[in-house]
Amino acid sequence: MPTDLPIPSANASLPPAGEIGSETPVTDQTDLLGLTAAELGAWLSERGQPAYRARQLAGAIYHTLTSDFAAMSTLPAALRERLAHEARITGPTVRAEVISKDVRTRKLLLELSDGRLIETVLMLYPASAEGRARATVCVSTQVGCAYGCTFCATGQMGFERHLTAGEIVAQVLRFARDLRAHPWQAPDGQTLDHVTNLVFMGMGEPLHNYDNTLKALRILNMPEGLHIGARHMTVSTVGLVPGIRRLAEEDLQVNLAISLHAPNDELRLRTMPVTRKYPIADVLAACQAYVARTNRQVTFEYVLLAGVNDAPEHARELAALLAPLAHLGHVNLIPVNATAANYRPPSGEAIRLFRDILRAGGVSNSVRAERGDDIAAACGQLRTRVTQARGNAQSVGKKQAAHEAQQAQKAGGE
Ligand code: SAH
Ligand code: SF4
Repeated sequence: MPTDLPIPSANASLPPAGEIGSETPVTDQTDLLGLTAAELGAWLSERGQPAYRARQLAGAIYHTLTSDFAAMSTLPAALRERLAHEARITGPTVRAEVISKDVRTRKLLLELSDGRLIETVLMLYPASAEGRARATVCVSTQVGCAYGCTFCATGQMGFERHLTAGEIVAQVLRFARDLRAHPWQAPDGQTLDHVTNLVFMGMGEPLHNYDNTLKALRILNMPEGLHIGARHMTVSTVGLVPGIRRLAEEDLQVNLAISLHAPNDELRLRTMPVTRKYPIADVLAACQAYVARTNRQVTFEYVLLAGVNDAPEHARELAALLAPLAHLGHVNLIPVNATAANYRPPSGEAIRLFRDILRAGGVSNSVRAERGDDIAAACGQLRTRVTQARGNAQSVGKKQAAHEAQQAQKAGGE
């Protein structure tokens, strides 16, 4: 989380928590954000509309960024009225917002239509040797997560439900509208008014919600929509082998990030229960197949936990494990974020030593920059704090409720 002062949300008083169940909310209206261009065309043609209407409607949603059917002036009035009855454009409610002082990292706590809460983050990066300025959105794919990694705030919540494709797309659209309304003036003078990159690194495990994640990837990638290049999208996974192998066959060149976090199964099992089902060797074999099929690189994420997986022998073991696969990609070291589980990041010196050992072993690596990535990696923390305050609030009365919720929102930015 950033250490900068948060900007408290206008929504200081919070509603009661949504009913807990595992079903996706049911409504008769079609969520247009969950439809591919072909599906949008079929939906309109079932209603007697010509084919070109799909392009017009997609243009209104993704290019003009309109969510109000009445304002879609390219469509005939009768169709606009029908859309208002039979369709919707999902728009989650912002319950809290944390913005870093330099305004380059913005984290939202969003409330879905059934009252559940998720987090979404926008990270703005100036141009660097690696390329142009970027506006990267970090999306959630589930409410909670079933995999229970011990260092992860989302993992500690347990699994609540999958997000629909429309709910995933809506997170990106929310920031697309923000950037359109308030373009970012990058330090090099460039103006950025649209989302350029996506990382599926928010709450939840994308490959556990495979179908909706894939559909969202296709919708966000389609030329009639936001048209974000597959090579600008990264799916991060805890290492679900069948999902990685399936993704390799999709003919969609997205980048893959693997949450490795340990150099051997025994140590990995201590923090990541999924290791029992998918040992490291199987995950690495799936990565090789992914690279062979897609030509994309894989990033291995390694959260550094002081006293757990950050010793020089761990670095040596990791180097030995990955050096033969050096052509697959590189290692991203992430000093752990403070969570309820009481982990600490290693000292700067321990991190440097770890990096040097990896490099000497032939494994290229980088340390994830403090600021924006840091806030994204810790997805789940803001929700945890606000939900805890809300739980307390219900038992101590309304006035106290507002106060605690406000404190939680502030704490979310510290
Ligand atoms: N479920 C997917 C994607 C969401 S988590 C996955 O596990 O890859 C995105 C990344 O944040 C993962 O690499 C995850 O291990 C990391 N992460 C989780 N909790 C963290 C914390 N407290 N500090 C730093 N990184 C964390
Ligand atoms: Fe789930 Fe990823 Fe968190 Fe593990 S790190 S609990 S897989 S969200």
